Amino acid sequence: MKIRAAVLEEFGRPVVVQEVELAEPKVGEALVRLHACGVCHTDLYTASGADPTGYAPCVLGHEGAGVVEAVGPDVRFLQPGDHVVTLFAPECGECAHCQSPRTNRCLAIRDQQGLGYLPDGTTRFFRDGEPLRHFMGTSTFAEYTVLPEIALAKVDPEAPLEGCALFACGLSTGIGAALNTAGVEAGSTVAVFGCGLVGLGAVIGARLTGAERIIALDLSAERLEHARHHGATDVRVADADSGEWIRAETGGFGAA
Ligand SMILES: [Zn+2]
Ligand SMILES: [Zn+2]
Repeated sequence: MKIRAAVLEEFGRPVVVQEVELAEPKVGEALVRLHACGVCHTDLYTASGADPTGYAPCVLGHEGAGVVEAVGPDVRFLQPGDHVVTLFAPECGECAHCQSPRTNRCLAIRDQQGLGYLPDGTTRFFRDGEPLRHFMGTSTFAEYTVLPEIALAKVDPEAPLEGCALFACGLSTGIGAALNTAGVEAGSTVAVFGCGLVGLGAVIGARLTGAERIIALDLSAERLEHARHHGATDVRVADADSGEWIRAETGGFGAA
């Protein structure tokens, strides 16, 4: 089928929206019509040429949400009509990392994914008959994309897809940082530096664990308002004395 996609043709140049060919999903894959997609700094980092693992041309994008339109053979968990979020870190449920409580860095499709291919080592995107590579196994800067089903998480169809897309990267990164990396405990005091999407996720994660005091710092008053809305108890414009201020506010103990 013909679809439109935003293609990174060359590092350091704007992406080019154009018509490309998308092949049918193969074994274990699904065709998704994208409804919403965020733009993450990783997309910009790769587009800039600074990412040593980057390649061009490719279809960027990894923070997507949409609806399954069709499935290939042997798809087990999805069917057309399912609402889904794209996962650049998939979950096969079977590999050593999926079974470990210490990590979720699934190994199942990683090698080909890193090179811009789907698990069988080929692409579903084509231009003039030539393969066009995927990005992060997701390629969500497109009207439709094809992914392995293990790279899709089903979500409640009642949930607005614009909000769901944020869980594909920035929001879950921040929530996970509070819950898993920092191990925020109930009743604790937490300071979050920077209240973009990842920082807001950390505020939300801290709130979910029952942190008593959540201090949000940023240079933008607008972002601090978002932080307050999502559960920050203290908001403060960051400056060179922010660390001192936090120590003074916490009786010298500081914050998580
Ligand atoms: Zn991202
Ligand atoms: Zn796995």
